[in-house]
Amino acid sequence: MTNKKTPADWRLATKLVRGGLKRSQFGETSEAIFMTSGFRYDAAEVAADRFAGAAEGFTYSRLSNPTVAMFEERMSILEGLPVAKATATGMAAVNAALTCQLRAGDKVVGARALFGSCRYILDEILPRYGITTELVNGADNDAWARAITPGTKTVFVETPANPTLDVVDLQVVCDLAHAVGATVVVDNVFATPLLQRPTEYGADVVVYSGTKHIDGQGRALGGVILCQQQFFDDHLNQYLRHTGPTMSPFNAWILLKGLETLDLRVTRMCENAAKVADFLADSGKLSRVLYPGRKDHPQHELAMRQMAAGGTVITMDVPGGRDGAFHLLNALEIIDISNNLGDAKSLMTHPASTTHRSLAEAARLELGIGEGTLRLSVGLEDADDLIEDLAEALTRI
Ligand SMILES: *Cc1c(COP(=O)(O)O)cnc(C)c1O
Repeated sequence: MTNKKTPADWRLATKLVRGGLKRSQFGETSEAIFMTSGFRYDAAEVAADRFAGAAEGFTYSRLSNPTVAMFEERMSILEGLPVAKATATGMAAVNAALTCQLRAGDKVVGARALFGSCRYILDEILPRYGITTELVNGADNDAWARAITPGTKTVFVETPANPTLDVVDLQVVCDLAHAVGATVVVDNVFATPLLQRPTEYGADVVVYSGTKHIDGQGRALGGVILCQQQFFDDHLNQYLRHTGPTMSPFNAWILLKGLETLDLRVTRMCENAAKVADFLADSGKLSRVLYPGRKDHPQHELAMRQMAAGGTVITMDVPGGRDGAFHLLNALEIIDISNNLGDAKSLMTHPASTTHRSLAEAARLELGIGEGTLRLSVGLEDADDLIEDLAEALTRI
């Protein structure tokens, strides 16, 4: 009797390097890039069979492509969900995961603290099509319980949330949602597939921006939607086929290469972030330092229950409002002023004037984003160099 292991049985690092690998007839070591929009068939009958779904094989790269399929299979094995579909950006993934299942009259419940563009979809786009959206304080379990009512179709969660790093109790929200038959969509970007596994709490759909830690080297945009077969068959498949938010094969290749080192990078970035967060909190120069891995984070216990580490992002408040924040940013020598995150390079941004500028001031303040709030994505530089850069900049505020 053989006891052959399948890729699903592999340990994490092996999945990241080898999951989904399919070699061509040339036996290349690295994944091949199939930059082709279409595919040719040996006979008319083969084309007919493929279109009828009676034979396996590619037909058109809007629907699937060998390089993109390798990325999708690697993500599927990694997340432990049977279906993964790659998209051109993280926002395309969020939008498709929501829109494919919603229709006029449906209700969506989400947390107030969301990535700016996710918030725009809930606040502005969905209501245009007759979909009701209700936003709650994601840290307040009673607020979720009040909002998730029998008419709720979908619950949308981001945890930790951008940029204030609020943590949502995934178990509580999934249980409430499932009690009324709602689908839970989790944007797991900040936690990465390594630190948090939303399916363990019952999440139905998980989305990522591949642009962040999965590429993690500032090169390419991408996204991915992971779900059960039923959700794919009932909602996602036809929606994606006919609306076409497809990932380019070249970007899929970059993200495949990114996955190979994701474990190493995220582990080091979390170690760096923990050191930098301690330095910032101990500096005494900031009015607030938020890092889920620190005991003084208001939801530290929940964060550590749900996540394997504190993450790669730190949020802080600089005294002196926008002036103070801009002074600090402009004094940095190593850390770049940039709004991306999850990158090898440490990046710092001022949410009120960039990523969250489209929110009304009252909505920003409600989220805890002040004029002095800065978000730091900690990268792969030596933590001591980052600390020295910040220490020097802090003397200028
Ligand atoms: C960046 C980000 C997105 C959007 O991803 P893009 O690839 O930039 O479209 C969505 N959600 C979260 C939490 C993000 O950080």
